[in-house]
Amino acid sequence: MAKSLKKKHKKKGGITVSRFLREKNKVNYVCLVCDEIEQIPYDVVRSFDAMDHGDLTVPPQFSCEKCGGEMYPEYYEGIHGYIYKIEDVKK
Ligand SMILES: [Zn+2]
Repeated sequence: MAKSLKKKHKKKGGITVSRFLREKNKVNYVCLVCDEIEQIPYDVVRSFDAMDHGDLTVPPQFSCEKCGGEMYPEYYEGIHGYIYKIEDVKK
């Protein structure tokens, strides 16, 4: 099951301390098709993870807002201790 999330267009530029702190509570998801990055709130990823009783090697999944492609976490440790990394699926 894939869900797409709304997101505002990100501005490039400097990162302030408060922005850095907020982003610690997000998981970066990278589109496997177009490399778009979306930041999904950690709590959202966590609750998807908790609902998913399927294959442990498959992370909670979201689809890319730009191209509808599959997204994969840049780095995320699942509730069962399985670590998902984008390097594992990207060449
Ligand atoms: Zn995409």
